[in-house]
Amino acid sequence: MNYEPVIGLEVHVELNTKSKMFCRCSADYFGAEPNTHTCPVCLGLPGALPYINKAAIEDCMKIGLALNCQISEVSRFERKNYFYPDLSKGYQISQYRWPLCINGQLVLDNGQVIRINRAHQEEDTGKLSHVSGSTLIDFNRSGVPLVEIVTEPDFRDVESVRDYAKKLQQLFRYLGVSNADMERGDMRLEANISVRVKREGESGKELPNYRVELKNINSFRFMVAAIEYEIKRQIAAIEKGEKLSQETRGWDADKKCSYLQRSKEEAHDYRYFPEPDLPELSLQSSAISLQQIKDEMPELPWEKKERFQKQYKLSISQATILTESIKLADFFENTVKLGIDAIQIANFIINKKINIEEVLPTQVIEDIKAKKVGIIDSEEELTKLAEQSIAENEKSAADYRAGKEAALQAVIGGVMKLSLGKADVSKVKPLLEKLLK
Ligand code: ADP
Ligand code: MG
Ligand code: ZN
Repeated sequence: MNYEPVIGLEVHVELNTKSKMFCRCSADYFGAEPNTHTCPVCLGLPGALPYINKAAIEDCMKIGLALNCQISEVSRFERKNYFYPDLSKGYQISQYRWPLCINGQLVLDNGQVIRINRAHQEEDTGKLSHVSGSTLIDFNRSGVPLVEIVTEPDFRDVESVRDYAKKLQQLFRYLGVSNADMERGDMRLEANISVRVKREGESGKELPNYRVELKNINSFRFMVAAIEYEIKRQIAAIEKGEKLSQETRGWDADKKCSYLQRSKEEAHDYRYFPEPDLPELSLQSSAISLQQIKDEMPELPWEKKERFQKQYKLSISQATILTESIKLADFFENTVKLGIDAIQIANFIINKKINIEEVLPTQVIEDIKAKKVGIIDSEEELTKLAEQSIAENEKSAADYRAGKEAALQAVIGGVMKLSLGKADVSKVKPLLEKLLK
């Protein structure tokens, strides 16, 4: 039988706002003395009243806009009731029926469109530590703003899940809404996995009637390992004729296997109901201007990457590396402004693994010019590269021969790419002109 995994992802991201979601405690708790960032609201004391953090809502909207979501005119907070020691109130304030952002999408590198079901606002819980037989509770994290982003079950392979998660991490950093550090728990992944027999047509599109939710994944590497393991486990179970059921499993990174945590509760087990202590969030009557947020959105990672390819004629991989962070992208562009060929600069920064914290753009230019580091300028080597580029850019070469001057640029670009930017540009052009006579 030919099986196909069906995967949906839930990503939680902790926002780096100054204060918590529903009180004025500092949300910057990392490394702080336990239970020092607390107040009656985030300790869940009776009678304490929450109020909404505007900055968190704005961040959630930025995430939603970047993911092409509709921003709801009216949204609402609800209580998600469950009993657990790290949840002081006995419920988490979350969004369920009326989330802030809905119906978005994100395009992966392979062109696949992943539908985003929702990006909603909620709050984090406290943190338990199990120390030599006893359990300690730290409420510093309780009430820190979280945004949860839920996809439709659109993934069919692990690589796509990885690409998606990486793209989200990069997005959070571009938007400046979170450090999105997985190890610190700023960003947490939960994968929902089921397996079905691969079929053509409508019946092939039906979702399996169960899903296994994988929790405790705190690195991209573990996520890939956990999903791969889980797919194999489920296929083996199906082959044995077992019936798989809705459950939550954890990932044991040491033993490299998933283990049962609990049979999954259904939404009705949480007895969701509208949070009576908070007003509904109405875009019209709030102090938040959606238009202003739209106007202030930065260039998104994928937009920048595409622009770099077009504007500087970079290859996909060069553009991917140079747009990894806004800082690196800015460094590159600031260097290009100082003159010299962009591809040469791109290769220099990438190959030399330039530490942009320690070097200035002017120094990069000086190094390239003065030392001509690794510059290829021998007639013989350049001719070899030129001939190869002509062969690879047959059409442009032919166009140039036919009199289209501008077509030469593509062949020059080919030489620069083949030489990883090291060919001496001043010699490449005359050489190609000679060869293409
Ligand atoms: P819950 O609160 O129970 O985690 P959510 O609605 O937040 O529910 O998330 C459900 C996740 O499960 C979504 O990412 C969705 O795409 C995914 N999902 C739903 N059905 C399946 C399925 N049959 N196989 C795999 N994933 C699924
Ligand atoms: Mg969920
Ligand atoms: Zn507080």
